[in-house]
Amino acid sequence: MRGQMMDQPLLISSLLVHAERHHGSREVVSRRCEGDLHRYSYRDLARRCRQVANALAGMGLGRGDRIGTIAWNGYRHLELYYGGSGSGLVVHTLNPRLHPDQLVWIADDAQDRAMFFDLTFLPLVEATAARFATVEHFVLMTDRSHMPAQTTIPNLICYEDLIEAAPERYDWPVFDETTASSLCYTSGTTGNPKGVLYQHRSTVLHAYAAALPDAMGLSARDVALPVVPMFHVNAWGTPYSTVMAGAKLVFPGPALDGKSLHDLFEAEGVTFSAGVPTVWQGLLGHVEENGLRFSSLRRTVIGGSACPPAMIETFEKTYGVTVLHAWGMSEMSPLGTVCRMKPGAEEMTEAARMAVKSKQGRALFGVDMKIVDADGNELPWDGQAQGDLLVRGPWVLDRYFNRDEDPLCYDAAGLGWFPTGDVATIDADGFMQVTDRTKDVIKSGGEWIGSIDLENIAMGHPAVAMAACIAAHHPKWDERPLLVVVKKPGREVTRDELMAFYEGKVAKWWLPDDVVFVDSIPLGATGKMQKNKLREAFRDHVLPTI
Ligand code: ADP
Repeated sequence: MRGQMMDQPLLISSLLVHAERHHGSREVVSRRCEGDLHRYSYRDLARRCRQVANALAGMGLGRGDRIGTIAWNGYRHLELYYGGSGSGLVVHTLNPRLHPDQLVWIADDAQDRAMFFDLTFLPLVEATAARFATVEHFVLMTDRSHMPAQTTIPNLICYEDLIEAAPERYDWPVFDETTASSLCYTSGTTGNPKGVLYQHRSTVLHAYAAALPDAMGLSARDVALPVVPMFHVNAWGTPYSTVMAGAKLVFPGPALDGKSLHDLFEAEGVTFSAGVPTVWQGLLGHVEENGLRFSSLRRTVIGGSACPPAMIETFEKTYGVTVLHAWGMSEMSPLGTVCRMKPGAEEMTEAARMAVKSKQGRALFGVDMKIVDADGNELPWDGQAQGDLLVRGPWVLDRYFNRDEDPLCYDAAGLGWFPTGDVATIDADGFMQVTDRTKDVIKSGGEWIGSIDLENIAMGHPAVAMAACIAAHHPKWDERPLLVVVKKPGREVTRDELMAFYEGKVAKWWLPDDVVFVDSIPLGATGKMQKNKLREAFRDHVLPTI
C-alpha cells in the first residue's frame, strides 16, 4: 500500500524559497575581494539567484551542464550555488590552492562549460584559460568598475553585468530529486583527484541532519560564519543548512587570517563557525597575543583533521566556546559524526569528559558505520578494537564521477559499504575515534601505533605549534614513530623534553623513537598536513638506537 502524502521532491531551490518567504529580511554579509563589506537580505539573495538562473539559461547552459567556480566564501558564490543547482545545472567548485595542472585536469574531467571566478584568481585563470578544453564562458565575479582594462581571457564576462541584464522572474523547475546538483573533487594526495557528484536529495537530507541539535544545532537565531571554504566539500554543507534554518550568514571572503576573522566575528555577532584546526590555530594565536575575547561566539565545528584536545580545552575553558569535533569526508557530503555528549557528562571527571570530547563523535542519523578487520569481519564496539571504518547512507558516495570501478565493498547481506580509508575504534556509547588514515598507520613489529594520538599529545605542549607523527624505517621493528615538530615562535623545547612529555601518557612501546624540528610542515589544499611529503623527506632518517 502506498502512503498518501504529497510526492514532492527534495530540491535545493526549495531551501531558498523557504528562506525568502520565512526569513526574507535576514542578512547575508560578505567580505569581498574588492576589499569592502557587502550586505543584503535573503530576499535579495533569492531575487539575484533567479537572475543567475535566467543568465545561465541565456548563456545556453542547460540541465546537467557543469559550471566551474574558483571563488572564496561570498554572496556571489552562494548565488551560483542556488541559481546553478536550482535550475538543474551542476555547480563544480574548484579548489584554487591546487596546482594549476590539477585544476586544468579537473575542469577537463568535469567538462566544465563555464568558469566563474573571483578577482583574486584573475592571474590564475589568465595563466590557465587557454588550457581549459571545454570552457566556453569565463565570468569574472565582480562589477564593471573592477573589470581589468586588458586581459588575455577571451570574451571575459562581467558577473554584475550578466545579472543586471537578466529578468528577476524565474520559476524553479521541479525535477527528480536524485538529479546531480554539485561536484567536488577530493584532494587526491596520490593519483588524480576523483569527482564526487552530489544530488539534490543527498544535499537536502544532509542539510537537515547537519542542522539538528546533536550536530551543528543551527537555528534562526544563529549568526553563522563558515570559514571552511565553499570549494571544500560545499563548506561542509553550511550554505544549505544555514539557509534552511534562516540563520544570518557571514562570509569571510579572502581574509582568513586571525585578525580579520576575529574582527568579523565581533562586528557581526557571530555565534557559530566551522573550520579546520589549522585555521583556528591562527585565530587563537591572534586572540591570545592580543588579550581578546569572543563576545558572541558560542560554538564552532572543528574537523577535516583531528582537533587536538589542547585546542578543545582552550576554546572551552578560556573562551567559553563549545567545540563540536566532527568527522567526515568529501565522499560523505561530508558529515559522518559529531562529538556531542550523551546524558551523564556532567557527572564525569574533567579528564574523562575531555577524553570523550577529543573523539570524532557519534554517527548522525542517516550514516551507518562499522569497523572491520582485514577479512571484513565486524569488530566490537569496545573502544579498544581498531579496524577499517566503513560507512553507508543516503549522502554517502555510491561511485565516483567518470569512473567505472566500483569503490564499495559488500557484506554477506550484499549491502554496499564505502571504505573510508580511516582506521578507528568505536566505544560502547557509539563514539568513534579515528586513530589513523590507513596510509599513515605506523606498523611496529606488526602492531599498529596511532599517529593521531601521538600528535595530539605533542600539541598539548606549550612550545609546539604543529606536530606530525610518521613511520620511520627501523631495522628490527620495520617501522617506529618519528615525531616532526614545528615550534611556536619564540618558544624553546628540546628533543629530550618532548620525549619526557610523553611519559605516562601512552604505552611505552608507543613512545616516538626520535624528534626532529622543522620550520614548517607542508599543508595540502584543504589545510591538512601532507604526511606523505614528510615521509618522503625523512625516508633516510636514522633512528637512534638505544
Ligand atoms: P581529502 O581526502 O580530499 O583531503 P576530505 O576533506 O574528504 O578530503 O578528507 C577526509 C579525511 O579527513 C577523512 O577520511 C579523515 O581521514 C580526515 N578527517 C576528517 N575529519 C577528521 C577528524 N575530525 N579527525 C581526524 N581525521 C579527520
